[in-house]
Formats: sequence, C-alpha cells, structure tokens
Amino acid sequence: NATDWTADKVLATRNVRFARSQRSYYDRPMQLVGGRGAWLYDEFGRGYLDVMNNVSHVGHTNPRVVEAATAQLRQLNTNSRFLYRGIAEYAERLTALLPDPLEVVFLVCSGSEANDLAVRIARTVTGRSDVLVVDGAYHGNTSVLTGLSPNRYKGPGGTGPDPTTHEVQQPNRYRGPFGYDDPDAGSKYAADVQRQVDRLSQRGTPPAAFIAESAMGTAGSIFYPDGYLAKAHAAARAAGALCIADEVQVGFGRFGDVFWGFESQGVVPDIVTMGKPIGNGHPMAAVVTTREIADAFDTGMRYFNTFGGNPVSCAIGTAVLDEIAEQGLQAHAAGTGRVLKDRLDELAGRHALIGDVRAHGMYLGIELVRDRAGKEPAPQEALLISELMKDEGMLVYPTGAAENVLKIKPPLAFTPADAELFTEVLDEVLTRDW
Ligand code: PMP
Repeated sequence: NATDWTADKVLATRNVRFARSQRSYYDRPMQLVGGRGAWLYDEFGRGYLDVMNNVSHVGHTNPRVVEAATAQLRQLNTNSRFLYRGIAEYAERLTALLPDPLEVVFLVCSGSEANDLAVRIARTVTGRSDVLVVDGAYHGNTSVLTGLSPNRYKGPGGTGPDPTTHEVQQPNRYRGPFGYDDPDAGSKYAADVQRQVDRLSQRGTPPAAFIAESAMGTAGSIFYPDGYLAKAHAAARAAGALCIADEVQVGFGRFGDVFWGFESQGVVPDIVTMGKPIGNGHPMAAVVTTREIADAFDTGMRYFNTFGGNPVSCAIGTAVLDEIAEQGLQAHAAGTGRVLKDRLDELAGRHALIGDVRAHGMYLGIELVRDRAGKEPAPQEALLISELMKDEGMLVYPTGAAENVLKIKPPLAFTPADAELFTEVLDEVLTRDW
C-alpha cells in the first residue's frame, strides 16, 4: 500500500538496505513523488524549486522527452550491434554541435563510464600511463577514476592517488595565490601544468593525458581564468599528451554564451566526455573524439556496451537537443544566469557570510565563509542554510572540498521569476538569527 510508505519509513528502509556511503540529502528529507519544469513535488503536493539539479536539464518530466522515451519504448529497444536509425541520427546531431575534428562517438551510460573510457583511450593511443588532473577535481566513481579524483582520494576515507596520477595546482582565484585582480592568473596557474609535464618527461614517463572539467563542479563551481586551458593544453600536447575535457557538469548550453564549457576557454580538446544533462535524467553519456584517435584506439580489441546508445537513449538524447534548440535554452541560460548573479551579488553586499559568488550562465556557486578576511570555510552554516531553504521549498546543497559552497545549477526551465523568488527566500534565511 503506497500510503504505508511515509517519508520516515522510506528513510528507515534506505538506512537498512543501503550502505552508509550512499548518502541522501537533508536531515529531514521530503519524499518526492513528482516533478515539472524546475519544480519537484512531495507526497503532500508541496512544491520545491529545484535550484541544484543540472541533470534535469530541459526540465523535470519534460513532455517532449517523456513522449520520445515512451514512444520508443513501445516500438523497439535493443543494443547497438544491431542497425537502427536513431543511433545514426543522434550521432549526427551530437557531432554537429562540436568543433572539427571531433567527429567520432562512443555512447555509454554514465559520466564515470565516459571518463573511464576517455582515460583508457588516451593510455592506449599514447602507450603511456601517467595522467595529469587538476587538484580538487571529481571525474567519477570507477576504481580508475577514484584514484584519479583528488576530491575523493584526498577527501574523507581517501587513500591517496594512484601512482600514475599527478595533480596540477587548482586555478582557484578566490583562495589561490593568483586572484581575480591578476590579469595573468591563467598563465600563472598553467605554469604548474608545464612544471608537472616537465617533471614527468624528465623522469622518462611523459603523460598520456591532461584531464580537466571545463569548469570545476564538485570542487565548488570554480571557473578557470582566461587563457588557463589554452596554456595547459599547449603544455600537455607539446609532450604528446591528449587533452580530455570533462563536460559532464557544464555542457549543453548551460554557460549561455557557449554550448560547451571548453569553448569559453578557446580550446578544442582531443576527447570530450558528456553525461548528466545529455539524457535529462535517463542514464546516458558519451565520449567524442577525433577519427585519428578513434582509429589509433582500434587495436583489434572490441568495445561493446550493452546499454549505451540503445534506441530509447538515442530518442531521449535527440529530444533533449531538440528542446534546447527550439526553446532557445542556451540564450535563456545566459539571461537567467545574469539575473541570478546580479541578485546574489546584491546579497553578498549585505551578508558577510557570502565570501564569493561565482557564475557562468546558469552554473553558479556561493562560497560561504566565517570571516571574509581569513576566508575560514563555513560548512555547518552551508548545511543548515540548505536545510532551512528546503523547509521554505527551495533546494540547494553544499559542495566543494570544504562543503561550504552552495551549488546553483537549476534545470534550464528555471525562469528569471524563479531566480527572484529563490534569492528573496535566501535573503530571508540569511537574515534570520540562527
Ligand atoms: N564528471 C564530473 C565532472 C561529475 O561531476 C560527475 C558526477 N558528479 C561525473 C563525472 C560522474 O558522472 P556519473 O555520476 O554519471 O558517473
């Protein structure tokens, strides 16, 4: 009986049936039963504005996506060793959105699978093992990616990097040595990529790859200074490494001015990985690379993926691209993102807890600090604010190495009016005497 399943009972059952490492959001979570656009609904019909879910890119239960998925489920679902039109159509649509020479697609099922494959391609093609990663990055949950994700191997329970993992300095202008006021911050942070490349080359193990999120997500919405990736890629490539752009968080128009995050840095990567928004919540992801690299990866060993690129996934992926184009969601992200940034800057002027507001289109982070001079992170405050915001029907959550950055990355169905509502409620919560 559905009514027996109260939120308390669901939570209690989760606690018994799942491992504690599989955390849920909130101390007192609501039970979700529905979604529409940028809104989620609990069992009592109460609405929650979803300010943190970039997976539901074109909106929860988007009618075009739901229709495409159900129609295809009724018609045919099978694996990609069979021939069907949807996969060809989708590969054409997806690659049309990428700059030359990115033209060959691997369709997979999660962002982790995409990054794992990207690293494997780079290692196979270069015949090397070592990989450069940006300090604080998160690239996924596989064994390889756990040892390649500083966010995990240096975080709670972490057991350190794989021997082939090498960190480069995080280009963090709020906390790092080169700040927002330094016009050469991009070059200065990229100099560390050159240093690591040189170090590895000198010891006879030049890197197979340099992997970087196009903006850092789990590290706390960190945007690179101008010129950073261009210089980092140049340093890596000069040593024969391939450059992987992880677009799992920021791709598909969220930045507003560009469709892919790497475009904002003026680079064309060798391999691009995509996930989260690509399927609007359906488990699909992709790796896109060049014909040359794809051919070099073809050692005779087969690559097969049971679910990747199945007809239902391709129908959904195509519907997502249609929706982004026909609803003008990229331009919408630029305009709505501007409203969010303006309102949050204004809040930062009145609430000392806000140390930094970072934004690119509809991807934002609000970094909370106990004191502005010392920048001591405020993780307990971030968690409490998230809980209080949830009680007010607004969903945000902390992220970042210190868990003190509120992640703001709503579905693109989020409107300027939603932005006003969210920031008004945040203002009220920040003003409370808690
Ligand atoms: N890359 C980045 C930048 C991510 O943020 C994530 C997920 N948070 C992943 C990869 C892994 O994606 P998934 O959870 O779909 O495996």
